[in-house]
Amino acid sequence: MTKIRVGTGIDFHRLVNGRPLIIGGVNIPYSKGLVGHSDADVLTHSICDALLGAAGLGDIGTHFPDSDERYHGIESLKLLKQVIAILAKAGYHTVNVDSSLIAQEPKLTPYFPAMKRRLGNVLHLSSECIGLKATTSEGMGALGRGEGIAATCVCLIEKA
Ligand code: MG
Repeated sequence: MTKIRVGTGIDFHRLVNGRPLIIGGVNIPYSKGLVGHSDADVLTHSICDALLGAAGLGDIGTHFPDSDERYHGIESLKLLKQVIAILAKAGYHTVNVDSSLIAQEPKLTPYFPAMKRRLGNVLHLSSECIGLKATTSEGMGALGRGEGIAATCVCLIEKA
């Protein structure tokens, strides 16, 4: 059995008025926030899906269904913590994650150091093992109109 595995994750959430904007576990000052059953942390969700995918252990929706009241408003870093525990039980640890955020607004780059600290604490990774990038969609489509934010993630996991 190969000891290293890769996984990919992708997630989208709508931006609405009256919600906090939480990305990578960091509360970002903005006029709108992402909507979802949990805190709608799009970046953390993409990382959860990449890790579960790499291990062949389903996805965030199967482990934490939005029909389950236990996950209503939950901090997504707590979901990531549970994902790390699921992988650890299967013998895997995370080598690195690399994510891209697609957002027309706001500028996310200034918050990357704080996101890396928060994510790194849960992933047990130093900041150089967490890749974060941000781009716009050049004004094209729903993301370009600022209707939501998307995130992708690629990860590598290793069996001890
Ligand atoms: Mg999501």
